[in-house]
Amino acid sequence: MKHVKSAKCIRCGREHAAVPGVTTCESCGGILDIIYDYDWIKTQVTKEALSDRIEHSMWRYHEFLPVEGTGNFPQLRVGWSPFYEEPRLAAFLGVDTMYIKDDGINPTASLKDRASAMAVAKAAEAGVSTIACSSTGNAASSLAGNAAAAGFETYIFVPERAPRGKVSQLMMFGAHVISVQGTYEDTFRLSAEAIDHWGWYNRNAAINPYLMEGKKTVSFEIAEQLGWKMTDYVAVSVGDGCTISGVWKGLKDLYAAGFIDKLPRLISVQAEGCCPINRAIAEDREWYPMEENTLADSIAVGVPRNPDKALRAIRESNGIVVNVSDQEILEAMRILGNQCGVFAEPAGATGTAGVKKAVERQLIPKGASVVSIVTGNGLKDTTNAIKAAGEPLSLKPDMELLLRAFEQ
Ligand SMILES: *Cc1c(COP(=O)(O)O)cnc(C)c1O
Ligand SMILES: [Zn+2]
Repeated sequence: MKHVKSAKCIRCGREHAAVPGVTTCESCGGILDIIYDYDWIKTQVTKEALSDRIEHSMWRYHEFLPVEGTGNFPQLRVGWSPFYEEPRLAAFLGVDTMYIKDDGINPTASLKDRASAMAVAKAAEAGVSTIACSSTGNAASSLAGNAAAAGFETYIFVPERAPRGKVSQLMMFGAHVISVQGTYEDTFRLSAEAIDHWGWYNRNAAINPYLMEGKKTVSFEIAEQLGWKMTDYVAVSVGDGCTISGVWKGLKDLYAAGFIDKLPRLISVQAEGCCPINRAIAEDREWYPMEENTLADSIAVGVPRNPDKALRAIRESNGIVVNVSDQEILEAMRILGNQCGVFAEPAGATGTAGVKKAVERQLIPKGASVVSIVTGNGLKDTTNAIKAAGEPLSLKPDMELLLRAFEQ
């Protein structure tokens, strides 16, 4: 790959060859970052050339991705998700301009599809036909779906608390599912041992440096959908920290290639009951584990797998951190539903909950422009959706009863 230079350790700086199966640093175990030759990329693609492309998926930006050519990309359509300007939401939240990037509209209904599509592409390159991962749900369901579409076998480890909607996706996509009676941390450890033992392709985020390269495409789309004029802020929810790192990598790629001339500040949003990354920023110290007390299962990560990259991204962007309560998350789900017609799962609404709180706390100015990324669809977790929105009016089929009910 002419445009990919190496896979460089973010801790010790050692460079590794960017082969398909590369994982963590051979010297220090640190997480790797894919390094590109932006001068070469600039000779291959321009903003104008992009606008003429008919490919409306994440592969639209293949020159910026660790893949060869335009040929054999997985066919499930991942990416090019809707992007909405939301003036009523902006007025409600008290910012100048507000955009929603709805990544719940992906084939398996979360932003994780971007990483899983990349995992499938790289597994194919590596010549491996079985892929495995551990996940709180969305990484798993997206891997299962993307792998099924490409004819791969999957082994998936989920903690027993994973919502039924997500587990049902796994089963429907034909994955071998292991529901682990323990925490996400326990689940991750067992999956790592099994992957070692059987030699499966590893889709565990952070460990596999290519996954973030898939996730960064969300920023490419946001930038293009904004006409390459970036907002002041981009808000996103944070669990392991791969998504926010990917968002930042995408923005930095575009900046390095001269596609955008301004880098937004990141708004890192976590749940109050589980915010080890934001706590490290707020207290300006190393992160340390935290309990997993939140109903937002996708970001209930007490031991984040990618804290170094996430912390670096937040600091480099001069970002801000906001923690929100479960009540505020449920409220943001209602707000997105009511004001935008966008149905988010709890972690999908958490970024927007963070924007609301950041305005209230005067962490961001009234004149700000903000993109909030909705990372997952509400149908994945109907239990919490009903918790947020309540139960409907219920009555016998009788007009009198309906009239009386409406009077009240
Ligand atoms: C995974 C996930 C996140 C957080 O991404 P991390 O890489 O774990 O920080 C946020 N929202 C949803 C819906 C997710 O599935
Ligand atoms: Zn290293």
